[in-house]
This record gives sequence, C-alpha cells and structure tokens, in this order.
Amino acid sequence: MDSNTVRLVSSFYKYKKVGNPIILQQKQLALCKLLNLKGRILIGEEGINGSVFGLKSNVEKYKKELRKNKLFKDIEFKEQETEKQAFRKLFARVRKEVVNFGVEVNLKNSAPFITPRQLKETLDRKDNIVLLDVRNNYEVKIGKFRDARTLSMRNFRDLPKYLNEIEDLKEKRIVTYCTGGIRCEKATAFLKENGFKKISQLKGGILKFGEEFPDTYWEGKCFVFDDRIAIDINHKNSKKLNECVWCLEKCDDYVNCHNISCDKLFICCENCKALYNKSCSNECLKASKRRKEYPIIIGQL
Ligand SMILES: [Zn+2]
Ligand SMILES: [Zn+2]
Repeated sequence: MDSNTVRLVSSFYKYKKVGNPIILQQKQLALCKLLNLKGRILIGEEGINGSVFGLKSNVEKYKKELRKNKLFKDIEFKEQETEKQAFRKLFARVRKEVVNFGVEVNLKNSAPFITPRQLKETLDRKDNIVLLDVRNNYEVKIGKFRDARTLSMRNFRDLPKYLNEIEDLKEKRIVTYCTGGIRCEKATAFLKENGFKKISQLKGGILKFGEEFPDTYWEGKCFVFDDRIAIDINHKNSKKLNECVWCLEKCDDYVNCHNISCDKLFICCENCKALYNKSCSNECLKASKRRKEYPIIIGQL
C-alpha cells in the first residue's frame, strides 16, 4: 500500500491527575479536527483513555502533540494498520471515570506489571500461574489466552459480583490481562484490596502481547471497541473458538443483527451473513426496520 494512504488505529491511556478535563477535551477536539482524525477519547480527572483513527502521518503528528503535554510525555500507544473504517465520528468526552468501574479503588494498589516477554517466558517455563481474563463475556467468547480463566460478566462494572467465582485464586499467582491494559489497573487494585496477594498485570494487554508474540499463546481474535469489532492477533490461521449461529461452522466473526429492534451481537460466518441478510434468527430475518450498513458498537469503555 502507498505509505501516504496507510491508515492506523492507535489506542492509548494514562491514569494521571488532569487539572481541568474540559480544557483538555477542547484541545483534543481541536487537534483531532485539524488532523482529520476520528475516534473516541474519554477524559476525566483520573486521566485519559482513547483511540484515534486516520492517516498514519496524521496519527504520528497526534502522538507527538499528545506527548508534548507533560502529563502524557511517556504515554504508550498500541496500533494497527487497517483498511476498515474503524471509526466514523469523533467523540471527546469528559467523564468521571475514563473506564467505568463504579467502585472506588486506590490506583496506588494496582499490581506490578509483567511485560509480554516476561509472560511469554513464564508460559514457556510452564510456571504455575493462572491467567485471569478481566474482560466481558462477549469478548472472551471469540478469543483468549490458552487455558485462561474467564468470567461471564456483561460489563466491567460487574467484576465485584464475580469475586466469589475466583475465591480459589486468592493464594495463587495470578496474571490479569485485558485488551490494552487500562481495565487491569483498576481490576488488580480492586482484587488486591480484596485479599488477592500474588497478582501482576500484563503491560500493554493483549494488543502489545500480540505485537511481540503472535502465534504463541493467544487463541482466536481480539474484540475491539470500534467498527472493526475484532482484530487478528495471530498471523497464521488461528484456532476458532466459537461457531456460526446458522451453520455451526467454526467461526469467530461478530455481526450486529440488522434488525434494528434486535441489534444483538452474534457470531456469523461470511456465507451466512449474505444468506440470512445479517440477521440472528428467522424472526429477525423477516423484520422490516433494518440497519443501514454501519454497525453500532455495543458497550463502550
Ligand atoms: Zn454460517
Ligand atoms: Zn436479531
């Protein structure tokens, strides 16, 4: 591809006390407009959490500008080239939390980091650790680390309700992971405050691990909160963890049901997408109010 037309999705976060979130929001909006970037940026007194999408050269300029702010001079980016339109709009919003958890935690209690390399070596040695996935049920359905412990929560805010399910891990060595790392910082602080002692968190999350060690311990795809819905972590043909709701063929592609009043996210193969007009059931196939081509993303981090 011509390097002038390569488009990137770049995601980032930083927990850092922001003095005036509204001023930062206005600056972010202006900067993204200037560089013709789309995406979603959440800003709060606790920090920033965002993804931007646009021409690679403009994303690079954005990163440089963001790092000029001394609060974010060491912020890290996880990025993928994409041909898909990952975002169609630009949002920069001020929120109480940049990741919605609901429970107050002291981020000073966050667990120490383990780098992708350290995790890879730990797994290579077959050390006795438990990988704990702190993502939601619809995310773990299509991809996870091999042998990871998963939870069936619908929303990150529900983690406290699932504590009793992982009681048995209190004395074990745990490594938590999520997509890019932001949820783990709150999750591990919460777990430590609730008696889990030997926890660490994967630095940079699945995305960073996938950049460095594809085709190793990850199975399936990685759910992302933009119009791509899921991305590949592995380069080789990866094991598919689920199946098409119509033909039951092994599959890990999500579709938003095109019956607007249903809107369910369901797993569907390419063939059946066309055959059943992107509907999740016979009932939805007959529905007349249908989605225009753009999927709406279900949760929002
Ligand atoms: Zn199918
Ligand atoms: Zn449906």
